[in-house]
Amino acid sequence: MRERISQAIYLPAILFGFAYLTSPYHSYLPDSLSPIFEQGSYWALALMMIIALLFNRAKILQLAIIVVLVHYLRSTELSHPFWGLCLTLLIPINLALISAYQERSVNSVASLFRFSLIAAQVLFVFYSIDKLNHEQLNLVMDWIRYPLFTSHTAWPSLLPQSQIAFFVAVLSLGFIFVITIKRDNPISQSVLGTTLGCYLLLFVDFPSNENIDGALTMAMVLLIANGLFRDYYNMAYKDELTGLPQRRALNEHLLSLGNKYSLAMLDIDFFKKFNDTHGHDIGDQVLQMVAGRIGMVQGGGKAYRYGGEEFTIVFPGKDAEHAAYNLELVRKSIEEYEMVVREEEREDEQAKNAQKSRKKGSFRQAKKTVSVTISIGVADKKQRSEQPDDVLKRADTALYQAKKTGRNKVTLD
Ligand code: GH3
Ligand code: MG
Ligand code: MG
Repeated sequence: MRERISQAIYLPAILFGFAYLTSPYHSYLPDSLSPIFEQGSYWALALMMIIALLFNRAKILQLAIIVVLVHYLRSTELSHPFWGLCLTLLIPINLALISAYQERSVNSVASLFRFSLIAAQVLFVFYSIDKLNHEQLNLVMDWIRYPLFTSHTAWPSLLPQSQIAFFVAVLSLGFIFVITIKRDNPISQSVLGTTLGCYLLLFVDFPSNENIDGALTMAMVLLIANGLFRDYYNMAYKDELTGLPQRRALNEHLLSLGNKYSLAMLDIDFFKKFNDTHGHDIGDQVLQMVAGRIGMVQGGGKAYRYGGEEFTIVFPGKDAEHAAYNLELVRKSIEEYEMVVREEEREDEQAKNAQKSRKKGSFRQAKKTVSVTISIGVADKKQRSEQPDDVLKRADTALYQAKKTGRNKVTLD
């Protein structure tokens, strides 16, 4: 939990902090570089939108549109305070909506509706300023500015424009925060980071330094790009079922190993029979549980799903004895784990007769526990000329030995 929060917060904090702290020094940049923060942010946003379109990522496109709107509307002299007021009210709501959306392709009906919603708001604000007379506009503004409470203490000065907008912003941020923690994926983290950036632009009165807007916008583009690329990275390197990195990531890790390391191969015992007895779905749940335990390996080990119900753990810089000690802890923790599976079982005739008051065909929650064991083979690099693949083969041979001599054990090569 704490890790999720820090992951979602630390990059925005670093980027926005960097943008803020360095912006006073922009004037020292050579003349040829100085337009980078004024125009560069638009180019970066345009690039982000094109990438979103090419890769069919509607959420990324929506985020980029919101940032364009915030950046553009802040950088133009607002002809009417109505603009600013609508901006501070509508942007948080839209960001909260984007965070709640399920990912859809850009040209799906859902996405078209979502884009139209943003367009409708922009048109509405333009239309209002254009068509409504002064008094009508003031009436709407009074409504948005209507004080929810009055206080003699100083803090409401934080909300110079509208308490309603302020509370909407706080609620939206809270909502986005919860979604980010719950979904725990890079795109949600981008939405949170972008929200924080937009809030800085909307609510903080920076000293009159024009570049801070551009610098913060660039930081937001980086956050969005980071979310997108990390999302693709996860698709390529992470196994969907277990959340562990998979074979491709293992191969890259193997290439980077030095002269001392150990490799372990792990395999669930009698898993075919387990699937036959309990069904593939419960098999998958067990696989997730086992992967979770294997992923918690101590002693500097890094776990991968090798494929099927087989896993690999890499111990860089460690010999086989060290690895075996930590693998034994993993083996034991899996052996001792009793996993509760919830099964909805139809009541049998007997039970139905015993409790006639229940309706026909009702279900009851039956709790049962299942457990599995794993066998492990481990080997370390012995000779200078040996390649990781050779060590992996020896670990596999050791695993075979473990299987042959009774299973549920760690065997050294
Ligand atoms: P052993 O102790 O010798 O390893 O016996 P075993 O039955 O585990 O034998 P083996 O390793 O050959 O069997 C692999 C089985 O694992 C086959 C398949 O039913 C099951 N399996 C592989 N991948 C998955 C998966 O993603 N989900 C589920 N539920 N089962 C899987
Ligand atoms: Mg196997
Ligand atoms: Mg097996």
